[in-house]
Amino acid sequence: MRPPQPNRPGVGGVSEPYDAIVVGSGITGGWAAKELCEKGLRTLVLERGRHLEHGKDYVTEWWQPWQFAHRGRGEQELYERDYPIQSKNYAFGEATRHFFVSDREHPYVTPDDKPFRWIRGYQLGGRSLIWGRACWRWSDLDFEANRRDGHGVDWPIRYRDLAPWYGYVERFIGVSGSAAVPARRAISARAAAASGDTSRASPPRSPPRARPGG
Ligand SMILES: Cc1cc2nc3c(=O)[nH]c(=O)nc-3n(C[C@H](O)[C@H](O)[C@H](O)COP(=O)(O)OP(=O)(O)OC[C@H]3O[C@@H](n4cnc5c(N)ncnc54)[C@H](O)[C@@H]3O)c2cc1C
Repeated sequence: MRPPQPNRPGVGGVSEPYDAIVVGSGITGGWAAKELCEKGLRTLVLERGRHLEHGKDYVTEWWQPWQFAHRGRGEQELYERDYPIQSKNYAFGEATRHFFVSDREHPYVTPDDKPFRWIRGYQLGGRSLIWGRACWRWSDLDFEANRRDGHGVDWPIRYRDLAPWYGYVERFIGVSGSAAVPARRAISARAAAASGDTSRASPPRSPPRARPGG
């Protein structure tokens, strides 16, 4: 509980019991908060970034290239100074810069031999404001990739553990279209089948779904 603030009425002095506190409001935290609320838990979401209003704050959504000061290409000097990492992402540009962090304000380091481009968006919704909306399922090939390559620790789960949950989320968010095997997986699956390795077969997808209401 925060102490009462004499010059800020309504701030502090009130004990707010929460059953759950979710840190971050991206796809992960947002989904967790939704589930917790639907189960009746009093849920607090803490978000470090600015508040965004769906629709209203997509300020460049319908802009055409000629409406931007630099026709969408942006200020290269500014990018080099403030966004040397973010600006390497394909989705970064004059229309989207406000959804990416400033690398100058949020620096990080990695070992020299292990560079890592950390693409970040600090705002309500996190990187859901910039993602590409492709909804892949991981196959066992993905779950086993780091073990096969000798990196980190093995995932404690496999595709069959997640399959029903993929379906659960896909129904809610309205994933639509063909359940066809994506090209990369098709190539991997064909290579695996040729080598007799059945563990790398592509996961079965749910049947094709129509867009809700469509
Ligand atoms: C350009 C781009 C395209 C992509 N396209 C796809 C795609 O097509 N398909 C796909 O599956 N994935 C895609 N991804 C990946 C996908 O967007 C991310 O994996 C996903 O959005 C991550 O969600 P998250 O909630 O885990 O993290 P984030 O979205 O990063 O959310 C983290 C949230 O936590 C907040 N936060 C961080 N630290 C704190 C703190 N200390 N206190 C409070 N709040 C904090 C941040 O501000 C942020 O809002 C793409 C990513 C990018 C960058």
